Amino acid sequence: MSFQSHGEIRYFQFEGLGHGLTHSVFTRRGGVSPDPWAALNLGSTVGDDLERVRENRRLALATLERDPASVYDVWQVHGVEVAIAESPRSPESPHLQADAILTDRPGLTLMMRFADCVPIMLHDPIRKVAGIAHAGWMGTLHGTVHFAVEAMQKHYGSNPADIQAAIGPSIGPDHYEVGPDVVIQVQQAFGSDASSLLSAGAGHMKFDLWAANTLLLEQAGVRHIEVAGLCTACHTEDWYSHRAEKGRTGRFGAIIALV
Ligand SMILES: [Zn+2]
Repeated sequence: MSFQSHGEIRYFQFEGLGHGLTHSVFTRRGGVSPDPWAALNLGSTVGDDLERVRENRRLALATLERDPASVYDVWQVHGVEVAIAESPRSPESPHLQADAILTDRPGLTLMMRFADCVPIMLHDPIRKVAGIAHAGWMGTLHGTVHFAVEAMQKHYGSNPADIQAAIGPSIGPDHYEVGPDVVIQVQQAFGSDASSLLSAGAGHMKFDLWAANTLLLEQAGVRHIEVAGLCTACHTEDWYSHRAEKGRTGRFGAIIALV
């Protein structure tokens, strides 16, 4: 995994997602938005000016030579719905509510937005399918990434053992404090594995979203899993963090496309 630069824009790429694919997790550097969204904000529901968001999106996509008209994105709602994308989403058509997107169409660029929640990228180089998922604590407890892998099997005949998965920058186990209500739900969802996902902090429990999503992928039969290990709350110079910036921040984008 490594950081790349294109002009002012700095982005992150995984090593292990395989060939026939282009992808990027964009840092917040290099866009046109002012504070508190500075600078490459791709979120259109966080109070930033929509013209600036559109310009940021154009700048980000240009780094990988992807056409803004090729984008398929969704309204991320912390659920488990998986969207099967077959054509770009036109600006006139409403967003589908979903937290994972899959496609086998090389003309499409799948895009999602993040500020602490976990970006999970998926690639089946055999069936030639790309996917991206979004999981905060709710999506992790409900197994969004499990449903994404299951949909790859159902719709495209993927064998989980062929799938290459990557867990992107998101709030790390050092920073992700959760209340007793969430602790109980982690215990209910993960059973005997819960103790390895929770650690005691100063008066709080911490929940390891990276380990939890790794476990969900392993349970779904995925063997190739790369974890960025980059904490958004530790590095707000690079990433937006909803927690660390107390909700006043933007959203960084992640894109994946078959080529
Ligand atoms: Zn941290």
